Amino acid sequence: MQYNSTRNKKYKVTSAMAMKQGLSLEGGLFVPEVFPELTKEIYDKLMNQTYIQRAATVLSLFLEDFTVEELEGYCGKAYGNCKFGVGEPTPLHYTNDKTAYLELWHGPTCAFKDMALQMLPHLLTASVKKTGDDRTVCILVATSGDTGKAALDGFSDVDGTKVVVFYPKDGVSEIQKLQMITQKGDNVFVSGVDGNFDDAQTGVKTIFTDEVYREELNEKGIILSSANSMNWGRLVPQVVYYISAYCDLVKDGKITFGESFNVCVPTGNFGNILAAYYAKKMGLPIGKLICASNCNNVLTDFINSGVYNRNRAFHLTMSPSMDILISSNLERYLYDISGKNDEYINDLMKKLSENGSYEVTDAMKEIIQKDFYAGFASEEDTLLEIKKTFSENAYLMDTHTAVASYVLKKYREETGDQKICVVASTASPYKFNESVLKALEQDKPCDDEFERLVLLKEVSGLEIPKQLWELKTAEQRFLSACEKTEMKQTVTKFLS
Ligand SMILES: *Cc1c(COP(=O)(O)O)cnc(C)c1O
Repeated sequence: MQYNSTRNKKYKVTSAMAMKQGLSLEGGLFVPEVFPELTKEIYDKLMNQTYIQRAATVLSLFLEDFTVEELEGYCGKAYGNCKFGVGEPTPLHYTNDKTAYLELWHGPTCAFKDMALQMLPHLLTASVKKTGDDRTVCILVATSGDTGKAALDGFSDVDGTKVVVFYPKDGVSEIQKLQMITQKGDNVFVSGVDGNFDDAQTGVKTIFTDEVYREELNEKGIILSSANSMNWGRLVPQVVYYISAYCDLVKDGKITFGESFNVCVPTGNFGNILAAYYAKKMGLPIGKLICASNCNNVLTDFINSGVYNRNRAFHLTMSPSMDILISSNLERYLYDISGKNDEYINDLMKKLSENGSYEVTDAMKEIIQKDFYAGFASEEDTLLEIKKTFSENAYLMDTHTAVASYVLKKYREETGDQKICVVASTASPYKFNESVLKALEQDKPCDDEFERLVLLKEVSGLEIPKQLWELKTAEQRFLSACEKTEMKQTVTKFLS
């Protein structure tokens, strides 16, 4: 199976090449030329497999340059060894017969990005070797909080790699910042950026598309790659957990084989929900894809009107990993539903970068609204949802998951569709402890991150994740920030 660029479908590469490159040279994203089908035979196999085996089975359908044995080896390293606790890595938590929270945050950084970023280093280093390349891979990451730490943790001290992470200086939570600036490893570097997430992401994209700079690095034996969800190796491991969740729903007797279910995802860059869409394309019986945003609701408006318009106020919210106005992965979806019209995608993306907006055709709008429902939660809605779910269902959610949970209720009220729904639960409540405590009305003045962890434990009875508690005494290694115009110099300095 070959991969195309969304901006040039004549450009075809292998899966290893797509992952090694991250982004296509003209700025497009790599997508599979055809989608594998989940046959009865594959389902029969998946039903009785562990998560690690399921992951290898699903990945092997997409990554033809790798053997199932190789993939099972990587999956074992990524999801085994108690990296995700003692049970299966992605448990379902039912709050009632119709609502299952798919907990994706039992990994090393307490957020769902571990699901992909524990896997990516293995896929990437193997891809570089498989394409006959012996250069050092330098991973550049722009993060709205969770990706940065997950990439640092995944790549730390992995041979043949270096990682540079940029985060918006004032746009991440205290604990997210601590997680990043205390990262261990000789091959990592972290810097704040004086700007928001979109500035950081645009800066990274600019470095990637700078051909002169790439050539300079090439001469030093360095190749740039991305760990953002633009990289196929980041996206494809996410397809797995939707398929695995379906198998679990069937095994738990919540649905019968073949019966459909809805999926609700708190969305920022459109990566996680796109993975669910791809699973549906493979034949997974997903009904509606419910796209939940915070008050940076550019996707809500897009899905409801067909107009994407990033010219709007940017809000810092209590769900910072969704504070995004340019959802990069939407491009992959638009490419798909436009009938792989690369010229049209170029046109839309040009409009987006020049005017900050575009409008899709009526035919496409119709398809979008058939696939998706979209809604958003205000800050107030988010707090109330955490409080209500905790008091009514004894289930504590983080702020991102709460956005999804709120939008699901709104969807059910509006449409009457009571179908069973899998809600992607994307972070541990401990990771966003300040807002969660506020929601529980436990906000007696408490400025200390670690006192708040203890307080949250007293209120909720949940264990504090060890990986967060240990930050208390960890050495802070990276204290600098740069202007958004200085990102390239920052990379150069670290690499030399
Ligand atoms: C990144 C992130 C999201 C948004 O996921 P996308 O793939 O960017 O849509 C939601 N919740 C948390 C906790 C995240 O870290």
